[in-house]
Amino acid sequence: CSVFDHVVRAPEDPILGVTVAYNKDQSPIKLNLGVGAYRTEEGKPLVLNVVRQAEQTLVNDKSRVKEYLPIVGLAEFNKQSAKLIFGSDSPAIQENRVTTVQCLSGTGSLRVGGEFLAWHYLERTIYIPVPTWGNHPKVFTLAGLSVKTYRYYDPATRGLDFQGMLEDLNSAPAGAIVLLHACAHNPTGVDPTLEQWEQIRQLIRLKGLLPFFDSAYQGFASGSLDSDAQSVRIFVADGGECLVAQSYAKNMGLYGERVGALSIVCKNADVAGRVESQLKLVIRPMYSNPPIHGASIVAMILRDRDMYNEWTIELKGMADRIISMRHQLFEALLARGTPGDWSHIIKQIGMFTFTGLNSEQVAFMTREYHIYMTSDGRISMAGLSSTTVPHLADAIHAAVT
Ligand code: PLP
Repeated sequence: CSVFDHVVRAPEDPILGVTVAYNKDQSPIKLNLGVGAYRTEEGKPLVLNVVRQAEQTLVNDKSRVKEYLPIVGLAEFNKQSAKLIFGSDSPAIQENRVTTVQCLSGTGSLRVGGEFLAWHYLERTIYIPVPTWGNHPKVFTLAGLSVKTYRYYDPATRGLDFQGMLEDLNSAPAGAIVLLHACAHNPTGVDPTLEQWEQIRQLIRLKGLLPFFDSAYQGFASGSLDSDAQSVRIFVADGGECLVAQSYAKNMGLYGERVGALSIVCKNADVAGRVESQLKLVIRPMYSNPPIHGASIVAMILRDRDMYNEWTIELKGMADRIISMRHQLFEALLARGTPGDWSHIIKQIGMFTFTGLNSEQVAFMTREYHIYMTSDGRISMAGLSSTTVPHLADAIHAAVT
């Protein structure tokens, strides 16, 4: 008899569960399109050359020790991370009204930001898009916020429900927090245009809502670090306040190193200093201080001009391969005369395509074609290659005809 006898088995995480099912499948043609991580054309995980180079330099530097970092992490990493997302000439940085703290990748940054808001912000409601990354509601609920939703995706057009989004934000209570995907919305791949972002910004500022950006794919979506940061930068340029959670999992391929940053842009340097002092009180009892290795890699790459340039080239290589997979899949469906409009495959951006396939069609493709994906019809373009596109196109064709 165990003191834990009453503990019931929890369901598998819906995304990680796809991989569990995939691993059990013995078929030689099986294909895993559930993973949220980049794969090469050969289907292999990728460590960037520039990351290997930075690691080598770190290992060879015998003056480096393994002492604890401060609670807020590596200072150089924080400074460079703020420049990366806000732009190197950002007035907000120059005015010292941004506080940036190193956190455990994107998830940890969202969680620390959420807890800070739950402790210190008056309107403890956060609006998240429908659909959104499955972890968002859990992270913010456990942080102590109350989670509500706004309309985002329109299944009819497989695009943005812009009107619905504006209506829902307009009827949110003044001061409410709004979670925005900075680029490459997960799982839909549907982003507002710059003009739409501008309208969203005006509404959010007019209503006094507080934007909280989740930036998990900077540079990974379009191949350009600056383009993918535009949404964040227009909000910072107006002088208003916002939060940003950054992740280096995708754009530097540092998934398991857990490197990210939370920035809070404040009205002035005095507020930013006080906010940072309170962030330390959130972090200290949670994990004391963040790990040193991944942040040292990132700081070195962002600081060194040659390494930075090398990184942008490798990053664009990943983005371009994904964009090319979109075109190949689209062409393959056209060639098969698959019924329906599939142009959303090339219009959507980032790692995922929200195919519009329903859960029965997904189950059919898994059963008959050994293709694994989440039941909402989301496929990871990064898991595809030129050799597997025809197999996927055959499966989609069979599923819809
Ligand atoms: N936010 C979004 C939208 C994501 O898609 C992800 C990863 O899939 C994350 C945050 C957080 O990832 P990580 O904690 O690995 O940086």
